[in-house]
Amino acid sequence: MFKALAEPFRQPFPEIELQNGAGGGRKPKAKAKNAAGTIRRIWGYLARRKAKLILVLLMVVASSGLSLLGPYMIGMAVDHYLTGTSGHWGLFLTGLGLVYVMYALTSWLQNIWMIEISQETIYRMRTGLFAHLHKLPISFYGKRQQGEVMSRVTNDIENVSSTLNSSAIEIFSSVLTLVGTLVVMLYLSPVLTLLTFLVVPLMIAGMRWITRRTGPLYKQRQNNLGELNGYIEETLSGQRIIKAFSQEPRVIRGFEERNEAIRRSGFWAQTISGFIPKLMNSLNNLSFAVVAGIGGILAVRGAVTVGIIIVFVEYARQFTRPLNDLANQWNTMLSAIAGAERVFEVLDEDVEAKDEGAAVKLDHVDGNVQFSRVSFGYEENGDTLSDISFEAKPGEMVALVGPTGAGKTTLIQLLSRFYDPSSGTITIDGRDITTIQRESLRSHMAFVLQDSFLFQGTIRENIRFGRLDATDEEVEEASRLANAHAFIMRMDGGYDKILQTGGGGISQGQKQLLAIARAILADPAILVLDEATSSIDTITEIKIQEGLQRLMHGRTSFVIAHRLNTIRQADKILVLREGRLIEDGPHDELMARQGFYSRLYQGRLEQEDS
Ligand code: ADP
Repeated sequence: MFKALAEPFRQPFPEIELQNGAGGGRKPKAKAKNAAGTIRRIWGYLARRKAKLILVLLMVVASSGLSLLGPYMIGMAVDHYLTGTSGHWGLFLTGLGLVYVMYALTSWLQNIWMIEISQETIYRMRTGLFAHLHKLPISFYGKRQQGEVMSRVTNDIENVSSTLNSSAIEIFSSVLTLVGTLVVMLYLSPVLTLLTFLVVPLMIAGMRWITRRTGPLYKQRQNNLGELNGYIEETLSGQRIIKAFSQEPRVIRGFEERNEAIRRSGFWAQTISGFIPKLMNSLNNLSFAVVAGIGGILAVRGAVTVGIIIVFVEYARQFTRPLNDLANQWNTMLSAIAGAERVFEVLDEDVEAKDEGAAVKLDHVDGNVQFSRVSFGYEENGDTLSDISFEAKPGEMVALVGPTGAGKTTLIQLLSRFYDPSSGTITIDGRDITTIQRESLRSHMAFVLQDSFLFQGTIRENIRFGRLDATDEEVEEASRLANAHAFIMRMDGGYDKILQTGGGGISQGQKQLLAIARAILADPAILVLDEATSSIDTITEIKIQEGLQRLMHGRTSFVIAHRLNTIRQADKILVLREGRLIEDGPHDELMARQGFYSRLYQGRLEQEDS
């Protein structure tokens, strides 16, 4: 890399076409699809601060005007001096000073007011986006990569923010200044105006030449950056696997490739746009020479005054600034629009279907669960579950068994309404669950999954997640019942020990004990357990079993079972195979039937399932 930096011009010019092969299709779209629509929507956010926006625009108009007035006054003063008609130098200087002070003041005001507006706008956009993300159905997350969604909340919003802060105003004020300069120049001397603007076509051509090359490069850089973000997220969250398979060198190489792509596109984008000021400067000097030279001749002939030439020289110097700004801000603005579009794309995703108007809140649930002819498929790839019917009576323990991919998890997801069946009905205590408010339904259920999620926070907070208004005593009581109390007390800090996200630092078995405590605290009528397949030491295993027994007592429980012991205890076993319920009943009955279950049970259950 350092070698490459030392020889920058040997670098291959990056191909504009993205070499995105390794990215696995998660390249962010950098190109705005509907710029006008997006701008209208951004305006929708801005419009709430209309009064302040009008003030900002007034300030922009004022500062643009004042920036024209200064040179004009100087020119006129010189003329008055030369013709000997001016006797009010003090007055003139005070006036000039006032103009520059006012210019500074109006620029400053437009700046801080715009920052206030844009920060508030972005604040609202960000809050809206985050809240929306939490209303989206699980299926949204099933389709997307986490890092990519995150980059919309962070990078893309930031992009919009910086543009609103500066670019929008700068572009507006540039256009105003350009038009204003032109008008005053034409009024003073059409001939000199023509001469000054002789270089403009050259400038525009040069600028277009440059931005046409830098535009795609900036876009490419943005894509490369998105890809790198996705890669970082993926490799950091997959650390354990990467280490376990000693893939660090390969991962680092993958990173280097992506990093190199960013460096290359960044290098060329910046190198080429670095020419803009140089080019402007040279053309500016050219224009200066022309105006000064030909203006001098004209002045000698008396066609124009010296003052006017001074005004022109000053204006000629001044009007390249807005041109420059326009060129610089244009790309930023385009990428911000693309960013806003990515944000709106998420905002347009349908939220989890609203509870029906008549949906009720259940205060009490006995726990009778019934599936009647339930079918369901993820998207179009056929039915994952077909025609499932069964009943679980209050307090019963139902074991779900079957090979991997049979549909056990899917069945549970339907019960908790992460997805709704495509046909058939699921009832709880005889009530169709689609007529129960989601929140209420889920409040009567608790989950103990193989890998229960732990948040960054104390052990106490993590358990209390089961029921937020639980007292410290209740948290401890639940932990005792779950057999978690003893190990918690052995830890540094006990209940106040801080856990890391995902529960780094405590064992798999301990995580399960915490999840059981959390579920006991929640005290739900219906329970969902996903038995761990990973091996846990015998003592912890016994503790977990004990905790689970206490947890399941008196509740309707669905257990995705992997252990023969658990299965044998179940009141009812549902045997799933390729999305169909092929056998159901208690263990003895199923064994007597000598069907799929008895074959599974006789030794193959574990192998087929894990
Ligand atoms: P089990 O829990 O019995 O192992 P699952 O219910 O997880 O089985 O999966 C059943 C089938 O549905 C599998 O073929 C799986 O590939 C598919 N499936 C699971 N989740 C999704 C999803 N989010 N999108 C599409 N297909 C899925």
